[in-house]
Amino acid sequence: MKGDLHIHSYYSDGYCAPAYVMTKAKQAGCEIVSLTDHDTISGMEEARAKALSLGIKFVTGVEISACYKREEIHVLGYGFDAYSPRFLRFIEGQKQYRRERAARIFAMLARHGIAFAENAFAFDVPREISRSHIADAMVRAGQEPDFETAFAKWLRSTSPTYVPMDSVLPQTAIDEIHAAGGFAVLAHPMRIDLDSYERTALIEKLAAYGLDGLEAVYKHVASATVREYTHLAERLGLFVTAGADFHREPGEILARVQNNPIVDL
Ligand code: AMP
Ligand code: MN
Ligand code: MN
Ligand code: MN
Repeated sequence: MKGDLHIHSYYSDGYCAPAYVMTKAKQAGCEIVSLTDHDTISGMEEARAKALSLGIKFVTGVEISACYKREEIHVLGYGFDAYSPRFLRFIEGQKQYRRERAARIFAMLARHGIAFAENAFAFDVPREISRSHIADAMVRAGQEPDFETAFAKWLRSTSPTYVPMDSVLPQTAIDEIHAAGGFAVLAHPMRIDLDSYERTALIEKLAAYGLDGLEAVYKHVASATVREYTHLAERLGLFVTAGADFHREPGEILARVQNNPIVDL
């Protein structure tokens, strides 16, 4: 089955409505999709309704921000009960932490002379604030020439004003996804900023803890990298998923063959 299991909408740091993204997925040949916004499922019902009307299989999804020893670790959740009270409380906690973390970033930026207009983050849909929104606001206000410059200078983990999303460990994200009956998949493992030995050790640790899958097929990664992570997944008994991590670029949505239990949900 062809599909894309890693997609963002404007309910997190994507730039498009969930329904529009589903239309794009259909055009790209997807037969199965999941909307995986950062720490929110606000776009889920809109995406599900559109996907079903287009004849695409829809799986509930989310991308949870976690942190392990200062490393940003993203855990994708699939097929969970989106109405589980415990899961909804967990998501609410993540959203609250995002707002607090944004306030800490604003305070750090203020010390560097960067301030925002009061309405700089007033959105017409209930978006969860991320570093991307802050980079965009800097560009809109003319403080930085473009998104990449803003991100590199102020928001990257090496920046003096960086504040991690460190509310939970990846193990907690795995637990919460499992408690709601879902599968937990490590997002873009090749992007984890550790040397290869430490990265593998972390993945082994999470696999032993109960991680279910590895996103070995990701955006534009080289086929050698896909093979490397596919082999690692096989060795650790994890299934493999594919995701384009769509935020806005046309053509970002990929149609890739899936062969994992999510397809059978
Ligand atoms: P946050 O969830 O607030 O930590 O923001 C992370 C998001 O920012 C990621 O999901 C990406 O969409 C985006 N991002 C992370 N690193 C970069 C980067 N170096 N350049 C541009 N965008 C990035
Ligand atoms: Mn993002
Ligand atoms: Mn991610
Ligand atoms: Mn993502």
